[in-house]
Amino acid sequence: MDDCIFCKIIKGEIPSKKIYEDDEFLAFHDITPQAPVHFLVIPKRHIKNIMETESADSGLLGRLLVKAQELAQAQGCSEKGARFVINCKAHGGQTVDHLHCHVLGGRTLHWPPG
Ligand code: 5GP
Repeated sequence: MDDCIFCKIIKGEIPSKKIYEDDEFLAFHDITPQAPVHFLVIPKRHIKNIMETESADSGLLGRLLVKAQELAQAQGCSEKGARFVINCKAHGGQTVDHLHCHVLGGRTLHWPPG
């Protein structure tokens, strides 16, 4: 998608602090971190949001979550855990229309969210 910020990050047109990349996924630090650990894991394929997925995407979604937890552990969250968040559309607080999983850790996070 030409106007998608995250597609531009994937293509290297916008810089990012990458922490992981393979053929299917990219992970990079959030530009406005909300916790000592705050990174995003995104599929390279442009999918607008979680509600745009279907059963054929089960493998991709599973691999995305496994990669997110592996990276959370690599970022030091093994002992105390982390939060894995997928916002969707306006009511979900999604601001970038490219599916992404937030990983937040390094401090106690409150619940419920605002
Ligand atoms: P959302 O609100 O859609 O769930 O999350 C989008 C996230 O992307 C926000 O936490 C925001 O800080 C982050 N973000 C937006 N633009 C950029 C950018 O250009 N670079 C990086 N690294 N993160 C971004």
